[in-house]
Amino acid sequence: MHKHTLTELSAQLKSKKISAVELAQLYLQRIAASELNAFINVQPEFTLAQAKDADARIARGDVTALTGLPIAHKDIFVTRDWTSTAGSKMLSGYISPFDATVVEQFRNAGMVTLGKLNCDEFAMGSSNENSFFGAVKNPWDTTAVPGGSSGGSAAAIAGGLAPAATGTDTGGSIRQPAALCGITGIKPTYGSVSRYGMIAFASSLDQGGPMAWTAEDCALLLNSMISFDQRDSTSIERAPEDFSRHLSDSIKGLKIGVPKEYLGTGLASDVADAVQAALKEYEKLGATLVEISLPKTSLAIPVYYVIAPAEASSNLSRFDGVRYGHRAKNYTDLSDMYCKTRAEGFGDEVKRRILVGAYVLSHGYYDAYYLQAQKIRRLIAQDFQEAFKQCDVIMGPVAPTVAWDLGSKVNDPVANYLADIYTLSTSLAGLPGMSIPVGFGQGEKNSRRPVGLQLIGNYFTEAKLLNIAHQYQLATDWHKQRPTQN
Ligand code: GLN
Repeated sequence: MHKHTLTELSAQLKSKKISAVELAQLYLQRIAASELNAFINVQPEFTLAQAKDADARIARGDVTALTGLPIAHKDIFVTRDWTSTAGSKMLSGYISPFDATVVEQFRNAGMVTLGKLNCDEFAMGSSNENSFFGAVKNPWDTTAVPGGSSGGSAAAIAGGLAPAATGTDTGGSIRQPAALCGITGIKPTYGSVSRYGMIAFASSLDQGGPMAWTAEDCALLLNSMISFDQRDSTSIERAPEDFSRHLSDSIKGLKIGVPKEYLGTGLASDVADAVQAALKEYEKLGATLVEISLPKTSLAIPVYYVIAPAEASSNLSRFDGVRYGHRAKNYTDLSDMYCKTRAEGFGDEVKRRILVGAYVLSHGYYDAYYLQAQKIRRLIAQDFQEAFKQCDVIMGPVAPTVAWDLGSKVNDPVANYLADIYTLSTSLAGLPGMSIPVGFGQGEKNSRRPVGLQLIGNYFTEAKLLNIAHQYQLATDWHKQRPTQN
């Protein structure tokens, strides 16, 4: 049962083969027995109460496609019944007085919350090793990282602890852990999913999205996730869409742009092989490949690591020991209280980003760093618009390597930053991007670690991306593979 997709489970609920309560119990048992450290907070009584409600709705016939299906939320989305920590000591034990819009949307659809998922502290990281609550293990090989920052989300799905999860992507955090854990994830166009109640990291980049086994499941989840929210000042008013509507369209004649910058030096050969094989499969499905260029690719890392820390330093100033979460015990005066609270509450990576952010925003450096970065951000977005004149979709790797060993990069933040090279540009441009499983590599060890293919579309083309992904998943079975020990 725990190996099933959301769509399969939905059919089981409909035909009354299983109840929402039984399904919730099954996952809760698996979570309790799991050693992946994917969850930060589980409250079985709240989960079971929601499942009972769902069964009552099913009995009344008051259902949506998602009623009774379990989901777990990245601990960046605030919840009333579970703690909301953002993976930080600063917020450990914190209970929000309200639910994030995304959480509310899934509750309204009748989904059952399994709990809150581990993540890098304030979503800063690529390996989930920056969490105050400890690292998450990759279900395919428990000596490997699951990717980050939505590592708990990806590991929970791959490990059979939840059939669906929410994630957030600021510079790749849905796509990269999806790739490293062999599942499917999509980051929609910036502004499509409400950021209300999503603990802020870098507001001009943060975007929530769904993670599941298949594109079909992600479409189902997006149907509940995308809508205008007046409580989010950057929410986009999009006409309501059914994201499943194009799933079965043929992709004959599709033009796939392959950026030459994404297949050059720095890309591990096992990842390159799996990506090339996937592109061949697309040719078999009737698509044609066009070489394109995204010339500013190499600038994405420096630009992102100026803009994201700048916004983070501003967003995280609210954690002052007065309004939320942790407060130092011993202090002499107000300013000492601020200093000690923040010194104790934040981890190293968060502090590093606050320092960098405050520096690039400071008088005398603002023009040299922050303003320059903003200008290049615009050029990066323009590169994509040039590229989309030649193709319908862009494809390439998600990450330069398969999942690396736990602990192997923890003392080298720059090595972690380099892992984001293929995902950052999409985020900086605000474009939708997704990751689908397309095979396995070995990494440095002789183990079996998943490879993801990245699909990047123009603004508001999520339904098309899901169609392109679904057609591949109809023709292949990478998305049906499951880790052996789970
Ligand atoms: N790995 C990137 C970072 O550390 C992206 C994180 C994210 O998308 N939340 O900032």
